Amino acid sequence: MKTENDSAVSVEHLTVSYGPVPALLDISFSVEPGQLVGIIGPNGSGKSTLIKAVLGFVKADFGNVKLFGKSAEHAKGAVAYVPQRGAVDWDFPVTVRDVALMGRFSKTPWWRDLSHEDHRLADEALDMVRMTEFADRQIGQLSGGQQQRVFMARAIAQDSELLLLDEPFAGVDAATERAILDVLRKTREAGKTTLVVHHDLATAAEYFDKLVLLKQRLFGYGPPENILQPELLSEVYEGTLRVFANLSPKKDSIASAARHRESHTGISDQSKSSEASK
Ligand code: ADP
Ligand code: MG
Repeated sequence: MKTENDSAVSVEHLTVSYGPVPALLDISFSVEPGQLVGIIGPNGSGKSTLIKAVLGFVKADFGNVKLFGKSAEHAKGAVAYVPQRGAVDWDFPVTVRDVALMGRFSKTPWWRDLSHEDHRLADEALDMVRMTEFADRQIGQLSGGQQQRVFMARAIAQDSELLLLDEPFAGVDAATERAILDVLRKTREAGKTTLVVHHDLATAAEYFDKLVLLKQRLFGYGPPENILQPELLSEVYEGTLRVFANLSPKKDSIASAARHRESHTGISDQSKSSEASK
């Protein structure tokens, strides 16, 4: 019999409030190791709060989160996190390589210098996000998309079992989108578990094994074809989305999704969403 100890992430009756109204109410789901899971829902639906609760950054009023059978606190070393853009001050004077190496510090006791292996993992991470040629650049001199990739490299360098990404695709250029897709594919190949807050329903079916559909409560959890149902989406998004017709989900590899999608597409653009689901 499966138990919560077999899950990478197990969320049980999670309720989180910042004020009188809960941001998340009675959320329960579990993610098996090795899965790539998208978290979708309208603005303010609690997506970032869910990621923060998984990290143990916000306190649950009720319920709990277990990571690999342990409390978030005890599983800290197993988790890497890339916050939503804008949540980070990029003005501190460090190079791209320094940022990637920061991913190794969390794994290094204070009395030990970074090893050859640490440097190798940081370089490999920069390579994965295609930022090697910028390694000596100050991060303040990069474009937004490039900064996003460097932050991603830092998370990859941690070599954690669980990767949490908050809207990594929001507002990025095509090169960054491809680099992030590459990362998602490789982390899945490596058997890691990844949770990604995602705002673009047109690509959700192509990118993810399962989707969490949120609006304060859990409206659905399962394979994209079960979640991207017009009735369910219109209930959750109400009047905020116009196009549901072309969301015919098709299980496809991330690699081919990257080939098909040269640029970011929005759900309100009918021609592009049908393009993305071909
Ligand atoms: P999403 O990421 O889906 O846009 P959030 O998790 O950021 O949603 O927010 C969920 C709800 O909680 C929103 O109503 C938001 O205004 C509120 N909220 C989020 N963070 C805070 C905070 N630090 N203090 C007070 N309210 C917050
Ligand atoms: Mg958010």
